[in-house]
Amino acid sequence: MKNITVVGSGAMGSGIAHCFAQYGYNVNLVDLSKEALALAMVKIENNLDRQLKKEVLTVEEKTATLDRISLFTELKEAIKIADLVVEAVAEDQAVKAKIFAQLDAHAPQDCILATNTSSLSITTIAAFTKRPEKVIGMHFMNPVPVMRLVEIIKGHQTSKNTVETITSLTEQIEKVPLVAADYPGFVANRILLPMINEAIEALFQGVAEVEAIDEMMKLGMGHPMGPLRLADFIGLDVCLSVLEVLHQGFGKDKYAPCPLLRNLVAAGNLGVKTKRGFYDYSDNPKQPIPLQF
Ligand code: NAD
Repeated sequence: MKNITVVGSGAMGSGIAHCFAQYGYNVNLVDLSKEALALAMVKIENNLDRQLKKEVLTVEEKTATLDRISLFTELKEAIKIADLVVEAVAEDQAVKAKIFAQLDAHAPQDCILATNTSSLSITTIAAFTKRPEKVIGMHFMNPVPVMRLVEIIKGHQTSKNTVETITSLTEQIEKVPLVAADYPGFVANRILLPMINEAIEALFQGVAEVEAIDEMMKLGMGHPMGPLRLADFIGLDVCLSVLEVLHQGFGKDKYAPCPLLRNLVAAGNLGVKTKRGFYDYSDNPKQPIPLQF
């Protein structure tokens, strides 16, 4: 495997491109506009500088990493010689379906098609291609350059060979692949999101304040970050959409998203990316926002 195309250059796509390029792969990074790609390159350079400061990387390696990334706004052009495509666009079934149909039509026959979806069915996405045995979930964690886990999701028709190839590629970039079957939320989010939802319920019911809930989980359970702060970091819209998938997929009330989460998303308070969620990230970082129920 030499040539990897990453579709979507947002929070996840930029990190995925960074990691593959750092380990010597040629990366074609695709987004809808040149502006989005320029922003992604700024993010990648800042993260490489952070690695430089920590002496994880040399100046020569930083330059070589940046040189291995090529930018595209035309999907067809970007996948001409791809050995692997990793899709990291919005968490929307219809958008992903359209992209996978295009990838299938224009990527080389033996190219593996991976999705970084947080919760959508790999089997359903694969059904939009004529190569379901080559479609797989490659669920990187945020922030990608820092987090070592990659959850590998085997769709109903994903072949053993595809799983082995992707597992070994993940090890090549010094991450840890762990395989899960294709059921709602896979493993990581099936466990994480109900915990976050319960923290929001506790807040909603007035059991404790934002900071108290977060500190209890940090000091009591050894979590590096409280669940409400983590929800802000993931994006409250992403949290809501994963919970909807769990609720719908299992048909159990225990996964029903808290009404407070729905209200925050409807109000456009999506967490760090909009500078407001459970905390205020503008002038006075980390201050909890007083909520009205
Ligand atoms: P994001 O909104 O930061 O980035 C998505 C990017 O895709 C945007 O730059 C957008 O312009 C681009 N895009 C949209 N349609 C496109 C198209 N047709 N062709 C090319 N580019 C297109 O989103 P994100 O947070 O990076 O999430 C991407 C995926 O990763 C989602 O499926 C999400 O569920 C998953 N994920 C997110 C996280 C997280 O913590 N944010 C963690 C794990 C997985």
